[in-house]
Amino acid sequence: MRIPIDRNSPTPLYEQIEKHLRQGILNGSLAPEARLPASRQLASDLGVNRITVENAYAALEADGLVYSRVGSGTYILPPNPLPKISRPGDETAWPLWQRNLPERSLGARAAVEELRLTAGRADHISFAGGISDSNLFPAEDFRKVLQAVMRRDGIAALEYGDRRGYAPLRETIAHILASQGLQTSPENVLITAGSQQALALVSQLLLEPGDTILVESPTYSGALDLFRALNFRIIGVPVDGQGMCVDLLEKQLQQHHPKLVYTIPNFHNPTGTCLSGARRRELIVLSDRYNVPIFEDDFVGDLRYEGRAQPALKALDPGGRVIHVSTFSKMLMPGLRVGFLVADGPVYDGLVKFKRVNDLATSSLIQRALHDYVTVGRYQAHLRRSTHIFRKRRDAMLAAIQRHLSGGIDIDPPQGGLFIWLKLPGNLSADDLLPRAIREGVDFMPGGNFFLDGGDGAGWLRLNFVVHEEGWAEEGIRRLARAVARL
Ligand code: PMP
Repeated sequence: MRIPIDRNSPTPLYEQIEKHLRQGILNGSLAPEARLPASRQLASDLGVNRITVENAYAALEADGLVYSRVGSGTYILPPNPLPKISRPGDETAWPLWQRNLPERSLGARAAVEELRLTAGRADHISFAGGISDSNLFPAEDFRKVLQAVMRRDGIAALEYGDRRGYAPLRETIAHILASQGLQTSPENVLITAGSQQALALVSQLLLEPGDTILVESPTYSGALDLFRALNFRIIGVPVDGQGMCVDLLEKQLQQHHPKLVYTIPNFHNPTGTCLSGARRRELIVLSDRYNVPIFEDDFVGDLRYEGRAQPALKALDPGGRVIHVSTFSKMLMPGLRVGFLVADGPVYDGLVKFKRVNDLATSSLIQRALHDYVTVGRYQAHLRRSTHIFRKRRDAMLAAIQRHLSGGIDIDPPQGGLFIWLKLPGNLSADDLLPRAIREGVDFMPGGNFFLDGGDGAGWLRLNFVVHEEGWAEEGIRRLARAVARL
């Protein structure tokens, strides 16, 4: 066999031989099942070391192009007989198990995005998201902090670290919570990959498929999706202007014996309401009477624009009843993937074990950077600036709604958080409105996504008021009003 070899090339000789043979196999000039020359023979033909040829054959074998038979030689493998499955749209090409994946109605957000991609305009204004304004995040400051951490901590910043989370960060979180009236110890804080992971860990530890969970109705769609994915029985408790209707809860507790109550007591997603002080106390009493734990999702508790904060449920907990969860996703950036939970009693150790099983640990580097960022007071400064700006944006959006969308619109202005929850006039449906709104260049999250039975939210929509500056919010609401008028 003749193989052109360039002894002056920077490419090693074995690689030149391998490349030449690979090309021959792939273009068919070397037929399947043909025997390659013995390595000793080829080495002598080419004037190279036998090891060089053996290395080339080994590389081809590792890639599944040739195989060796002991005592007989090296042969070319026939091409892979499996069918090609990369043709888009040909569903029959997928293996049967892929075609039989269980149907689960997840991913409300994806539906809005899909519509926007197919029918949206270049200057589209989205009010659908559940995030704050990323333009406000001082990315340059955070970059400097990250660099300083690498310089200071070196390789230690890239270890798994303490599975409960970076100890100084847990300590800082305990200090922040204490300043808000929630006394806890770093030993009771567990760092999670966002509050979504805290939801998953608590669900895995406390419930089994078929168990019942009580949630507000409406509630955060990501929680509903998770509980559906884990096959829980989900029971909804209505929400009014003072949060969950705790007076209706007792009957549900007696009837359904839930394993967990999931609540968002501050600036509720999607309604923006806060649970009143009296209801908070009543909820703790019921938790005790019916032996049921409470999951307190405080995802934007720090974003208060006016009014007095009520005590956290965890602050009213005499011990071991409430699992308090919060996140840096909304106050800082969601891609940090840092949230935390506060729990006491055996449940804390159980959650640490599930954390390890789920992802071993949260990024040590990010936790260290976050710790530095938060301790030097930049966090508080960022929060002050954000709340100042978001309050103005909320007022601007409420005023724009008054101006453009008045007739029959029903809103309870939120005192903080991210969302305005809006009831459409008459029998108008948010799902029918969405495609028309997207054609006008605006979107929102239809209310049905937040209910167990989507029909219950048909007349509602959730608007994120923090993401856009006042001018854009005004324009977005004007577009929304045009879509409503068309409908
Ligand atoms: N809880 C609520 C109420 C939310 O709205 C969200 C995200 N939108 C989460 C939890 C999860 O957020 P993260 O995992 O980023 O903390």
